Amino acid sequence: MTTPEQRREELVKLYREVSSCARCPLSQTRTQTVFGAGNANADLMFVGEAPGAQEDLQGIPFVGRAGKLLDELLAENGLDRGDVFIANVLKSRPPANRDPEPGEIEACKPYLYRQVELIEPTVICTLGNFATKLLTRSNTGISRVHGAPQVHKVGGRSVQIFPIFHPAAGLRTPRVKEQLREDLAKLPALLAAGPPPQEPVAPVYSTPEEPPPPPQPTLFPE
Ligand code: URA
Repeated sequence: MTTPEQRREELVKLYREVSSCARCPLSQTRTQTVFGAGNANADLMFVGEAPGAQEDLQGIPFVGRAGKLLDELLAENGLDRGDVFIANVLKSRPPANRDPEPGEIEACKPYLYRQVELIEPTVICTLGNFATKLLTRSNTGISRVHGAPQVHKVGGRSVQIFPIFHPAAGLRTPRVKEQLREDLAKLPALLAAGPPPQEPVAPVYSTPEEPPPPPQPTLFPE
């Protein structure tokens, strides 16, 4: 069991590690890493794709236009950033906001898994294809899976993965924005349902100790 203080300490350690990360070439083009932000004890985590230009400059996730839409949709459901933790699949901005490359996702994913392990959310809302495919370990696109929770094991625990469209897609297409709104309205009930049942931990059987050898009769010379 992690106390909130231990969790904070471990997250700060991870933050420092991420800040100086050079596991992929994005370390040479970024202004700074974008670790994630919000409530370290949140039940709800959002996972986006990668920092954009504004995020790269400010070091905070979702501070651009897509972030404003996310804030608006959170508020509609009685939530704000102080209630949630927001992170991304990649912690560094890909140049010109191109899609993350498989090698970059591979290099960066241990950081996201560790964030999930430390924060222990009950629901992870994946924003768009990259986060959804990574955390559901499936290649099925967001158009087919949005709005329906799936239970998966992440960071050693079972969590509800709740895929929704990326807010940037909502900015481009009004119908997608409406769908986002509809899907996000399911969040309060999903959160209220609590964590999914955890797999029972396999019992550890100790091998019974060898019985002590029977006492040997003391032999006296005849
Ligand atoms: N888009 C993302 O996926 N993440 C951000 O932090 C900003 C925009």
